Amino acid sequence: MTDLVLYDTAARRKRAFVPIDENRVTMYVCGPTVYAPAHVGNFRPEVVFDVLFRLLRHVYGEDKVLFSRNFTDVDDKINAAAAQEGVGINVITERFTRIYHQDAAALNVLPKTFEPTATGAMADIIAFIERLIADGFAYAAEGHVLFSVAASETYGAFSRRSLDDMLAGARVEVAPYKKDPADFVLWKPSKPGDPAWDSPFGPGRPGWHIECSAMIETSLGETIDIHGGGIDLVFPHHENEIAQSTCAHHGAPLANYWLHNGFLSMEDEKMSKSEGNVVTVHAMLDQGVRGEAIRYGLLSGQYRAPLDWTAALIERAQKSLDRLYGVLRRLKSVDAADVAPPAGVMTALADDLNTPKALAALFEIAGRANKAETVDAQAQAKGELLAAGQLLGLFKSNPDAWFGLDSVSDEECAQIDRLLTERAEARKAKDFARADAIRDELTAKGVQAEDGPEGTTWRMKG
Ligand code: AMP
Ligand code: ZN
Repeated sequence: MTDLVLYDTAARRKRAFVPIDENRVTMYVCGPTVYAPAHVGNFRPEVVFDVLFRLLRHVYGEDKVLFSRNFTDVDDKINAAAAQEGVGINVITERFTRIYHQDAAALNVLPKTFEPTATGAMADIIAFIERLIADGFAYAAEGHVLFSVAASETYGAFSRRSLDDMLAGARVEVAPYKKDPADFVLWKPSKPGDPAWDSPFGPGRPGWHIECSAMIETSLGETIDIHGGGIDLVFPHHENEIAQSTCAHHGAPLANYWLHNGFLSMEDEKMSKSEGNVVTVHAMLDQGVRGEAIRYGLLSGQYRAPLDWTAALIERAQKSLDRLYGVLRRLKSVDAADVAPPAGVMTALADDLNTPKALAALFEIAGRANKAETVDAQAQAKGELLAAGQLLGLFKSNPDAWFGLDSVSDEECAQIDRLLTERAEARKAKDFARADAIRDELTAKGVQAEDGPEGTTWRMKG
């Protein structure tokens, strides 16, 4: 296949991807904090890195790629939600983890190899901190443990920030127990009433950055191939993960490729839970938006570019999928050829996951499918569409089900298809009276027809 090239934030350029071990390709992505249903922005990394996972599995083999994505289940916002309901934090985190899994499944996201949690990794986190203290990279003071940035020679190199920028950017607290204001928390006492874990440094809870360093080491090892997350995490989160892990591992790099997705905004406003400017995936699914349409919408922009989430974007995604599913429905009786994903799709994805280009390539295949005059050519086009869909996580639905036709009998479907063909012929012959009569007959049956470049698709009005 074409060589895979990925934009590496650490190098600030695209680099050819070469894994440490072709038989064990590893990737980690920073996951959501589970205190509320995830908004569609949270699902951008989930869907984008799922495409990368699928691509790597295709190249190296399904069982050769290990993907670890955590759930952050220790957090002030979780504590606040639990206190408000008068329940333990596990009630909150289990509820929103369950919802996250449902949403991910609706968006055709493959299950991860590992899904570590901070609470599940507490012993590893504590042991990691102990090693940093023993090696002189961290110190305990007044119930806190702090990472000493002065002990790390390369601190700031990844995010390319000066110490002044870093202090301003992280809004760091100047606290009496800190040797240097840039030192960051590995462990801290819990606020009264909040959950606390026993540790050699006193009861408390870990800092957010150390959780990821420990979970990466435990689930995947010291140096991994790919580390991903949203662009907001470059500093301080990833800078700090790198400092902790590199120091604990005697200079071994944490990851060889750093990938960051651009932000999703809502009609041009930055989308985040705390800004109250939020569309949750769960609410969209409840309102009848198809999971696959949300996925298509998220893939309609290249992952590093900002993406503005608008009603028009979702509508376009839905219409595009209707056209493609329409083609698959027309080829229902054709057995798909068992073919490799088409070159146009592979080349686009291999170039730093150019998903808009890959999606455009689907329409070239769809056009070919419509013009195909032999069953072989139809089988080839259908096979290519399905193989591409496998890589992109699309076309998981049965085409009839996509158009809501599960409960419509085969005879009735055939009759409606016949009427639509007849209407098209009447129009062509300029017999508008006949065309209108057929349209009225279809409307009476509850058929909603949509004309597109690949022909007419239809569904039953819900
Ligand atoms: P959080 O739950 O905020 O910790 O975020 C979980 C993941 O989603 C992280 O990788 C974030 O960088 C990413 N993320 C959060 N908000 C957005 C957004 N609006 N657009 C794109 N990615 C986001
Ligand atoms: Zn992380």
